[in-house]
Amino acid sequence: MENCIFCKIIAGDIPSIKIYEDELVYAFLDIAPINPGHVLVIPKEHHESASTIPEATAGRMFRIGSRIGIALKRELDYDAYNLHLADGAAAGQVVMHAHLHVVPRGVEDNFHWNWRQLPYADDAARAAVAEKLIRRLANGPQNND
Ligand code: AMP
Ligand code: ZN
Repeated sequence: MENCIFCKIIAGDIPSIKIYEDELVYAFLDIAPINPGHVLVIPKEHHESASTIPEATAGRMFRIGSRIGIALKRELDYDAYNLHLADGAAAGQVVMHAHLHVVPRGVEDNFHWNWRQLPYADDAARAAVAEKLIRRLANGPQNND
């Protein structure tokens, strides 16, 4: 994909610090880490959204992301890690080549996701939301429309 910064990284046209590579995925250090060791795992094939990544590649991204998380704990003494993927600009996606963040975390690393927890208006409102999602998903796992 022309003009995609992550495709250029995979091609070697833009430098990166590679952590892992196989036939499906490429993993490298994020240039501006939340904590040192923050890694990005990307599909070698260009996909803007995670929703179009073939299942084998998406599975590999998650598996390698987890293995990198374990490596961060064992080798760099972190306590835990977050796997994070922003799908779409409104979700915070800046680079439009899907990528899984592996964010190393320490008990006192002073980083907060600002996770909020809103109530539903009532049970009917909650049920209506669930019903829409269930109907869509009943069309099968490959339905990404
Ligand atoms: P997102 O906001 O989820 O799209 O995250 C994009 C991430 O890509 C950010 O964490 C950036 O620091 C990272 N990033 C952008 N350009 C580069 C680069 N050339 N090398 C490594 N990481 C990069
Ligand atoms: Zn790309």
